[in-house]
Amino acid sequence: MFCVRFSPMAVVLPKTMRAVVYRGVNDLRVEEVPVPRIGPSEILVRVGACGVCPTDIKKIHFGTQAAPRIYGHETAGTIVRIGARVRGWTVGDRVALHHHVPCLDCHFCRHRAFAQCQTYKKTGITAGFEPAGGGYAEYVRVMDFCLPGVVKIPTKNSLAEGALLEPVNTVLKGIRSLPLLAGDTVWVAGAGPIGLLFIGMLSELGFRVVATDLIGSRCRLARRWGAWKALDGADPNLVDTLRGLTRGRGLDAAVVCVPVDAVVAQAQAALRGGGTTLLFAHTLRGKTAPVDLGSVCVDEKGLVGSYSSDFTLQREVARWVFSRRLDVRRLITHRFPLEETAAAVALAARPTEESLKVLVQSGDAVD
Ligand SMILES: [Zn+2]
Ligand SMILES: [Zn+2]
Repeated sequence: MFCVRFSPMAVVLPKTMRAVVYRGVNDLRVEEVPVPRIGPSEILVRVGACGVCPTDIKKIHFGTQAAPRIYGHETAGTIVRIGARVRGWTVGDRVALHHHVPCLDCHFCRHRAFAQCQTYKKTGITAGFEPAGGGYAEYVRVMDFCLPGVVKIPTKNSLAEGALLEPVNTVLKGIRSLPLLAGDTVWVAGAGPIGLLFIGMLSELGFRVVATDLIGSRCRLARRWGAWKALDGADPNLVDTLRGLTRGRGLDAAVVCVPVDAVVAQAQAALRGGGTTLLFAHTLRGKTAPVDLGSVCVDEKGLVGSYSSDFTLQREVARWVFSRRLDVRRLITHRFPLEETAAAVALAARPTEESLKVLVQSGDAVD
């Protein structure tokens, strides 16, 4: 038997593949599972790289979804099989995937609340079991409603860069939710992978970014990513310091990239009247914290959230990443083979001085 891998002619696929199956809270197992079969309107992608995302970590640590599932949704790879009814794609195309795609037609979509659309809430990429992204496996099946979310990766770019389109999209969506004017001052709390993407994009867009983090090395990185100032997040006088940077007027916006309630109160206190706090990391429901309602009503300080990606920003996001106006390669500090996904998740959950974005890679075709 011969196998011409990634040739446009034919790809001989194995019957089974390795996948990392979530079997219960903090229980990830490398198992042999069937290679997904595709329907006539679907494609099959051999996974090259998959980013480890905090939302996966949350599901794995808190068991918010029933097992078994195969997680991983920041996925890029190579098309190896195409359903008879699919047009526009070729076997061998290198692609980045979006596991959620909105219908663009419902009440929520008409209000641009894409992440609340029923179609969007369905996960359309799977490596088996209940669809959950599937990127921690060798092959994923892309269902018909997710095909509009497939993005071709230019030859000069790596699969790893493609895998980061999804998180970059979520960040641009968050920025778009802020009513900012040129030269405005924005606080980004937390200079981890997501915080750095905010810092990089906001400063590239011409805003003055003040970053904070508890890790000194991340403050230095924040400056390299364009932050105007990078401060210690543990400073007991942080609110005064932040207000001082705007000559007492207050910040135009604050982006909270850490799931710390006290930071939300600090952000509201450091805003100017009419400023906005964006919650980006508070992804667990049922958490409550006191809010000065007068600051929202009388001082008109907005408190908004942004979750997941905006399909309509996809092209713009691809331009940011593939032109390297936002060079996401410098975000990737660790790569783990598929078999060591549990270690990758553990590192992403407990970042070190050196770690930022952690990737799981499968096969040989990452770059
Ligand atoms: Zn994600
Ligand atoms: Zn919709």
